[in-house]
Amino acid sequence: MRWSRTLIPTLKETPAEAEIVSHKLLLRAGLVRKLTGGLYTFLPLGLRALRKVEQIVREEMNRAGALELLMPALQPPEIWQQSGRYETAQEVLYKVRDRAKKEWVLGPTHEEVITTLVAGEINSYRQMPKNFYQIQVKFRDEIRPRFGLMRAKEFIMKDAYSFDATDEAAQASYHKMYDAYARIFQRCGLKAIPVEADTGVMGGKFSHEFMVPAAAGENEVAFCDGCGYAANVEKATSAVEKCCDQTIEGEVEKFATPGVVTIEALSQPPYEVPAARQIKTLVYLAASKPVLILLRGDDQLNEAKLTGALGTATFRAAEAEEIFATLGAHPGSLGAVGVTHLPVYADERLRETVEMTTGANADGFHLRHVAIGRDIQVAHWADLRLVRAGEACPKCGKSLKIQRAIEVGHVFKLGTKYSLAMNALFLDESGKQQPAIMGCYGIGVTRTLQAVIEQRHDDNGIIWPISVAPYTVCITPLNTAPESAVMQCAERIYAELTECGVDAILDDRNERPGVKFKDSELVGFPIRVGIGEKSLAKGEVEIKPRGGTLVSLKADEAVEKVLSLIADSAG
Ligand code: ATP
Ligand code: MG
Repeated sequence: MRWSRTLIPTLKETPAEAEIVSHKLLLRAGLVRKLTGGLYTFLPLGLRALRKVEQIVREEMNRAGALELLMPALQPPEIWQQSGRYETAQEVLYKVRDRAKKEWVLGPTHEEVITTLVAGEINSYRQMPKNFYQIQVKFRDEIRPRFGLMRAKEFIMKDAYSFDATDEAAQASYHKMYDAYARIFQRCGLKAIPVEADTGVMGGKFSHEFMVPAAAGENEVAFCDGCGYAANVEKATSAVEKCCDQTIEGEVEKFATPGVVTIEALSQPPYEVPAARQIKTLVYLAASKPVLILLRGDDQLNEAKLTGALGTATFRAAEAEEIFATLGAHPGSLGAVGVTHLPVYADERLRETVEMTTGANADGFHLRHVAIGRDIQVAHWADLRLVRAGEACPKCGKSLKIQRAIEVGHVFKLGTKYSLAMNALFLDESGKQQPAIMGCYGIGVTRTLQAVIEQRHDDNGIIWPISVAPYTVCITPLNTAPESAVMQCAERIYAELTECGVDAILDDRNERPGVKFKDSELVGFPIRVGIGEKSLAKGEVEIKPRGGTLVSLKADEAVEKVLSLIADSAG
């Protein structure tokens, strides 16, 4: 490709709309342009890089035995009603109407479509295992589209769905995808860590997210340097001490705490009740019914864990008026002592605690000498707290660290939720009808592309790995007059590299050397071949790997050198 013929609108200034470095570089390097918030056009170079990521994904999915197909983005709402997600997914569902005013939805994911397909096409254990995938556009009505391609309204996902006849086979399918994902991200030049992920209402241990550590990430990951334990904080646990060595000192006693409505205030004089000796009482509405949630005063609720405990994701914190109607007091004075009309969910850390202080369900009053079990009837014990950095690793006891990260992929064992709802049944070996056991596996292809930039850049621009660079080599002649020796040498190298199958771009613009060098660093081509009059007079050209050191060598050795650099990076 000749630079002058394509469109690479590089920008000197950082666009005000971009907050994180990869978003700035996507725009500055002329890879994408915003149409409006959450919607982007891929320009020629951005599309080339995207296609390379897609190709890596495709090769590894094929290698793992998955079968590529392509499903419609436009979907009938009936299948969403059938799976039960028409309601639960309504916040992200884009809905459109046709000329007859019939409603359609734009697919945010494709479990419903693939399971409908499989219900019609697969009816025997002999036809399994099967894993189908596609690389396709998804639509999600995100509350806060931001950071460019990271969280968009329309984005490209690779989604795969496995169907197995037995649980063991389903686990094997899961592990195949897990391994394929590790290869995919490694080939994209990304350091992505598999971490244990929340399984929501489904439970189970088969869910991992692939996380790219980055300050700009929207997720938090707890990890242990000692044993390699890594989990999304939504899922992470720690080996914190559960119970304090206190003995019961008396009966529950009500005392006045005028104006005290926070854990912090109660820990101050004149009360001086340490946060760890307080019980925090939260009121939530689960499927519209109030429930009480108890945590130690110094702990925070983890809503992902609450989903598992409640068995539904349909819940929210109650409003002040709703709380008052339920308990007769306002937030800050709430407690569970003597509450028998509501289910009480308590965090494991409170088990067997005594000498605790909690709200009295009367504004301006608290209760002390509270003993869980004696004074509070807990219906459900569960791990409900968020882990904190510095707590002990649940596996080896070393101190946990917490780091921000970008989720680029997710593997998940679904079980039979969709196959039961959509009748994807098959006859097993003994002729009995069973639901297929499913797994689903997603990679945010466009997000992955941006994550590569987030992880690989310097002050001058992007540092593409060869595997996803829009062009591998940028040939930069400093004189572009067609008859000049410099341009003729550039043309020769360009032709030879292209002949060898190398993706090369010839910077044939009549621009100052500084501009050309800056642009090629900004776009981040892995190898630059610079050709100037002075060195060419000595028969030499200059080769500079992006982020590496410049070497001068004979012009007729240039192609060989480039090929060996490419071979080295592949090896
Ligand atoms: P997130 O928690 O970031 O919203 P998710 O759990 O909704 O992600 P999945 O439904 O598992 O994501 O989708 C699979 C992959 O698609 C994610 O791992 C992520 O890489 C990508 N993805 C999800 N939402 C978006 C989005 N709005 N824009 C770009 N990529 C996305
Ligand atoms: Mg999401």
